[in-house]
Amino acid sequence: MNIRLPLNDQLSRERRARLRAERLYEQVQRELKAANHHLTRHAFELSDQIISQREELCLMRSRAETLEGVNCQVAQDLQKAHSKADMANQRLREAVETLQDGFAVFDTDQTLILANQAYLSVFRGFAEVQPGIRYRRVVELCAYEGVVLLQGMSPDTWVEMMMARWLQPVIEPMELHFSKGISVRLADRRVANGDYVSLVHDITGSLRYQAELIEAQRKAEAAVEAKSAFLANMSHEIRTPMNGVVGMAELLSETDLDDEQRGYAETISNSGQALVTIINDILDFSKMDAGKMNLHPEPIDLEKAIHEVLILLTPAARAKSIELILDYDMFLPRQLLADPGRMRQILLNLVGNAVKFTEEGYVLVRALGVGSSALGHMVNVTVEDTGIGISKENQDRIFTEFSQVEETANRRFEGTGLGLAITRQIISAMEGQIWVESEPGIGSCFGFSLVLPVEASSVPAGLEALPTGFKTALLVSDHLISREIIARRLQAAGVTVVTATQSDAALRSVARQVPDVAIIDQDLNGQDVVNLLSGLNRASPNLPIVLMCSNMTEAKAAQRSASVRAALPKPLLWRDLVTALGGGTHLRTTLPVMEQPDEPRAPATHRLLRVLYAEDNKTNQLVFSKMLKLLPIDLRLAENGAKAIEEFAVFHPDVVFMDVSMPEMDGREATRRIRTMDGGASVPIIALTAHAMQDEIDRIMSAGMNAMLTKPLSKAELMSALHDHAPAGFLDTPDDG
Ligand code: ADP
Repeated sequence: MNIRLPLNDQLSRERRARLRAERLYEQVQRELKAANHHLTRHAFELSDQIISQREELCLMRSRAETLEGVNCQVAQDLQKAHSKADMANQRLREAVETLQDGFAVFDTDQTLILANQAYLSVFRGFAEVQPGIRYRRVVELCAYEGVVLLQGMSPDTWVEMMMARWLQPVIEPMELHFSKGISVRLADRRVANGDYVSLVHDITGSLRYQAELIEAQRKAEAAVEAKSAFLANMSHEIRTPMNGVVGMAELLSETDLDDEQRGYAETISNSGQALVTIINDILDFSKMDAGKMNLHPEPIDLEKAIHEVLILLTPAARAKSIELILDYDMFLPRQLLADPGRMRQILLNLVGNAVKFTEEGYVLVRALGVGSSALGHMVNVTVEDTGIGISKENQDRIFTEFSQVEETANRRFEGTGLGLAITRQIISAMEGQIWVESEPGIGSCFGFSLVLPVEASSVPAGLEALPTGFKTALLVSDHLISREIIARRLQAAGVTVVTATQSDAALRSVARQVPDVAIIDQDLNGQDVVNLLSGLNRASPNLPIVLMCSNMTEAKAAQRSASVRAALPKPLLWRDLVTALGGGTHLRTTLPVMEQPDEPRAPATHRLLRVLYAEDNKTNQLVFSKMLKLLPIDLRLAENGAKAIEEFAVFHPDVVFMDVSMPEMDGREATRRIRTMDGGASVPIIALTAHAMQDEIDRIMSAGMNAMLTKPLSKAELMSALHDHAPAGFLDTPDDG
C-alpha cells in the first residue's frame, strides 16, 4: 500500500467520512427525536389510561362498597325471615298439637309429612308411624295389627277400600272404631297443592251420649207404653163392674117400681153412664197427650151416624122438652170415608153439649155438602142450640183442655172440660176446622168442616123414592123447623104437603081431602095426640099414619088406641119413612119399625134363635141374659173360651157373643179356633170388651170378629147388634123392650 497517498485525497476522504458521520448523526438524531416523540405520546396515552383506570377503579370500589352494604342487608333480612318462618312453623305445630282432633298431612306421594300427637297416639307402640311413613303402611297397620275394628271385613278388603277411598274426587267422611274403645269420624280433604289433609274427630263421647239418648227414649216409650197399658187395664177394670151397675140399673128401672124407686134406679144408671163418659174422656186425652191418636177411615153412613147420636140423646132432650132436629143435605152422599168411632165422638161431644147447655128450645144438626174436589166432599156439620150461649171472651178458651166457662150458674152442668179439646184435636187430625158462634142467652152454633172421600157406591141421601101412590101427605107438627125440613123432603120426592100445627086443623084438613099418608109428630104441645089419632082413624079408617116419636113407651099407648102404620123415632130419618110406607130400598133400615100392638111375639121360624155367650163374669152374664129375656132366643152361656168352643160344637149357635178377656182361653183365641170349625167360618161373632183403646180394639177385630160392643153394655146397642147379625127369619119381629 501506498502510504504516500496524496494529502488531498486523504483530506477528501476524511471530509467525506466526516460528512457521512455528520449525516448519520443527523439521521440518528432525527430517529431519536421521532422515537422520543413517540415515547412521549405513548407516555401521555399511558398516563391517560392510568387516570381513567384509576377513576374506574374508584367507581368500582364505591360500587363494591355499596353492594357490600346491600348484601349485608339482604343477609340480615334473610336471617329475620328465617326466624319468622321458624316461629310460624313452631306456632303451627303448637297449634296443631293443641287440637284434640287428630291432624295429619300427606303429600302427593302419600307420604306423611306432618301429624300431631292426637293422630299419632292411636299408633303408640308403632315407632314407624312418624313423618316419612307412607299412607298405605298406616292403613296396613290399622288393618293387620288390629288397631281398627274392621266390622266383618277382611284386612285385605279393608286396606283396598281405604286406598280406593283416597282416590275419590270427593272423599266422604267415615266412622272408624279403634280396638282401644275409641270411635272417630275421619274427614279427609285434598288441598290445592295435592296434599291430603286428614282430620280425625273423636266421637266416642257423642256416640255414648247418642246411645244414652236412644236408651232414654226407649225407656220413655216403654213408660208411655206402660201408662197406656195401665190406662187400658184401669179402663177395663172400671168398666167391668160399671157394666153390672149400668146394666142392672137399666133393667131395674124397667121393672115395676114406684116413682121414687124409679128415680133412684135412673140416677144410678145416669151416674154410671156419666162415669163411663169421664173415663173415656180421660183415656182419650191421655192418649192424645201421648200422641197416639190413630184414625181408621172406613165407609160410614154419616146421616145414620148423626141420627144415632140424636137418638142416644133423645131421653136427655126429652126430659127438658128440647126438640132434636136433623137436616141432612139431600144431595150429600151418605156413605163417606171417615173413622166411625171418632166421628161419633165428635158428634156426641157437640150434640151432648148442646143438649146439656140448653134448657128449652131445640138442637138442630145440619150436614151440608159445600163442594167437592178430587179429595172428596167438603162437608160442613153445624150443631145449633137455643141454650145459655157463650160470651165472646170465653169462645176461644173453651177449646183448650180443662176449660169450662166459670160462672157459678154453670157449675150445675157436669163435665170434665175435656170434650171440646178432644173434639178439636180429632178434627184437626182429620185435617178439618172447628168453630163456634154464640151469643149469651140466645144460643150457640158449633160447626166443623171436613173433606171426606166418598165411598164409590154411595148414593145421595135424598134419592130414595117413596112408593108410588103417595102423592099427598098431611104433616102435623107444631115445630116450625122440623116441619119445614120434613115438608121440604116430601116435596122434593114429588109429594104435595099439607101442614098443620094443631089437631083440629089436621082433622079439618082430612075432612076436606084425605091424604095418602098422615105424618104426625107425637109431641104436639098441650094437645092429646091419642085423640087426634082416633079422630083421623074415624075420618078415614084406611089412612096410613106414621107417628114420629121421641118416647117409644108413650107411642105404644097411642098405637094401642089407633091404627098406626109405623112409629118412627124422632128426628125422622127419610129412609125409615120410605121403608115404613113400603118403599123399595136398597138400604137397610136403621131402626126397627115398631110392631102393631097386638101382634104376637112368636118367631117367624120354627125354632128359637140360638145365641152362645162366652163370659166369665157372673154379673155380666146376668145383665146380658136379663137384657135379652124377652126375645125368642135360646141362650147358652160358656164361662171361658175353651168352654165356648165345646159349646159351639154341640149347640151350633146362630150368633156368638164373645167376651174378650177370659181365663184359660181368651175370646180372640176362641174366635180364631171357632173360625176353623165346622160352620165356624160364617157364624157372626160379636166381641164384647171393656177395652176402649183403639190399638186393643184393632187387635180384637183382627182375630176375626164381625163386630164389637163395648161395656158397659147398653140394651139398645145389644139389640141393634143382635138384629144386625141374626140370620133372616128369626128376629123379623123386633123387640121394643
Ligand atoms: P164439658 O165436659 O165441661 O162439657 P167441653 O170441653 O165439652 O167440656 O166444654 C167446655 C165448656 O164450653 C163447657 O163447660 C161450657 O162452659 C162451654 N160449652 C160447650 N158447649 C156449649 C154449648 N153448646 N153452649 C154453651 N156452652 C157450651
